[in-house]
Amino acid sequence: ASLFGAIEMAPRDPILGITEAFNADTNPAKINLGVGVYYDDQGKVPLLACVQKAEAKLMEQPAPRTYLPIDGLAAYDKAVQELVFGADSAVIQEKRAITVQALGGTGALKIGADFLKRFLPHADVYISDPSWENHRALFESAGFTVHNYAYYDAATRGVNFDGMLAALKAMPAGSIVVLHACCHNPTGADLSQEQWDQVIAAVQAGGLVPFLDMAYQGFANGIDEDGAVVRRFAATGMPLLVSNSFSKSFSLYGERVGALSIVATSGEEAARVLSQLKRVVRTNYSNPPTHGGKVVATVLSTPELRKLWEEELAGMRVRIREMRGAMVEKLKAKAPGHDFEFVRRQVGMFSYSGLTKEQVGKLRDESIYAVDTGRICVAALNSTNIDRVVDAVAKVL
Ligand code: PLP
Repeated sequence: ASLFGAIEMAPRDPILGITEAFNADTNPAKINLGVGVYYDDQGKVPLLACVQKAEAKLMEQPAPRTYLPIDGLAAYDKAVQELVFGADSAVIQEKRAITVQALGGTGALKIGADFLKRFLPHADVYISDPSWENHRALFESAGFTVHNYAYYDAATRGVNFDGMLAALKAMPAGSIVVLHACCHNPTGADLSQEQWDQVIAAVQAGGLVPFLDMAYQGFANGIDEDGAVVRRFAATGMPLLVSNSFSKSFSLYGERVGALSIVATSGEEAARVLSQLKRVVRTNYSNPPTHGGKVVATVLSTPELRKLWEEELAGMRVRIREMRGAMVEKLKAKAPGHDFEFVRRQVGMFSYSGLTKEQVGKLRDESIYAVDTGRICVAALNSTNIDRVVDAVAKVL
């Protein structure tokens, strides 16, 4: 018998499956709202001008491709840390925060998960219900048992905050709780500032280990506004893990640029944490790639490029908001009696539209692709395709 004869076919990735079906569709008017990628109004994935300028600058003095340190490019780690915690943050000044370049947000979560498993082998992990589809599998693959905490309220299309708070209060001390820092994926429903205050108090009182996942900094209300949650957690002095990603905010999906930051209680403790985190990296992929990290570090540390990036990111944020508004207004006209105002309240790239699996199936017959859960990528709407989407949605309601 063959060595691999008994291996079963793994289940298909539900989201990549949509893309496969979309690619196979020969209708020229097909629309893919199933993706997790920002498209511009022309329906293209943007190559940001700040990135092109940084690349041109780097090419003026082409550098040899030596290995980076295990924890990545020092200039990148520093720039990311200041972006995530704020340049004047006490955790930076007191050297209590360490930051390690990682392979996108996914890579940051994975090295964080592997690190936690070594030092908290008996803790369980809690993720929101629902959550980014890879959270559960990722923490399970690190050896954890993963549970859900209440999050989405289908009735209000917002957050079931009482349920969430009760779940946090019921978690055993030492549990790891994964929180979306902003732009919750897949629902688009975020907590208010007052709700975050209560979450922070519950996490602290319960002795929980917060792991903030920030894949969309700058897509809700602004770079600093979206990072404020991280800063408020950091200000409490409790231990904290933060994964962040530049896949979306720099439109650098394929370069795999992200980072993991950990806040410890002293500089000396942070140094020990870093030494152990480096072991995790070393045994996984040794050290991160150079190009994306150099581009991001160059943009963040060059004032004109940084300004340009902030403008380009604001452009993406504003365009998404415009599409939300347009969808609400157009549906008001096309589907009177249905309230879609929640689409405007939701933030980030996604909206839990409330469409059922059956309705999503009917949209597919019109060559419009969404996730079975009703998640649509608002960042894939544009001035050319929105009317067709709204008409089709109105028809299936
Ligand atoms: N975390 C969340 C909540 C995400 O939505 C994503 C990407 O979609 C990631 C992490 C992973 O980011 P990356 O593509 O940089 O690995």
